[in-house]
Amino acid sequence: MILGVSDHPSFEGSLTEFLSFASSLKVGLVELKLDRIELLPTLSSMEEMRKIRDVLETFSFRYLVHAPYIGVNLASLNPAIREASRGLVSSAIKFANFIDARLVVSHVGRLSRDYPERLVERAVGNAASALTSLQSLSEDLGVTFTIENDHRSGDRVLAGTPEQIRPLLEEVGCRLTFDVGHANTLGRPEEFLESLRDYVVNVHLHDNDGVGDSHLPLGRGNVNLKGVFTALGGSLRDIPLIIECHSFADIRESLKVVRSLI
Ligand SMILES: [Zn+2]
Repeated sequence: MILGVSDHPSFEGSLTEFLSFASSLKVGLVELKLDRIELLPTLSSMEEMRKIRDVLETFSFRYLVHAPYIGVNLASLNPAIREASRGLVSSAIKFANFIDARLVVSHVGRLSRDYPERLVERAVGNAASALTSLQSLSEDLGVTFTIENDHRSGDRVLAGTPEQIRPLLEEVGCRLTFDVGHANTLGRPEEFLESLRDYVVNVHLHDNDGVGDSHLPLGRGNVNLKGVFTALGGSLRDIPLIIECHSFADIRESLKVVRSLI
């Protein structure tokens, strides 16, 4: 099993402080969230890319890159937002390649609840076409491009259930970062895996009560973690398991739970 931890834009303190914390946990992988204030400039400046690479290289982790998602929407019906979003995710892919991260995670986007249901199809088409061009850039650079399954939301979710995700994966040709907590807000994660397992190359772990996406420490909600591990089967050995909680204490607690299970 390959254990890792994820950064989060809410963490106070520098990237170096987060990486030092991750070092103390004895994990091999770190997922960088490019929405971290300190990392946003890497999306537009080579000098910043170099600066951050120097910081990353002082640690011995392998890195994964989570493309920016705050204010980003690849499915937007607004062409200016859609194009800017595609540009940002492509910059994230280039940054990943620059720091030798071999996997990128992107959100698919949503349709605002203010639009009628009939426009869902158009939004999905927008997302699929943006994701296809991002997949092609990733292929050229030798980076594995993944979309992440969404959680329950007040807006119209386009990639939450297996019925929504599978056709997208097939059309785009990319892989899946399976977020266990997100799946838990829309159904049973272990059941999602029955039809999605073959696409999964990265896993996000956190817990919740089955309704809100609260990123609780594992064991504090109703995620059936044992069931998820069983459903992942043999792939559990080779797939990164990334703890994605919103405080250092919650990350530490979750890691203990995962280690006790395996
Ligand atoms: Zn996630």
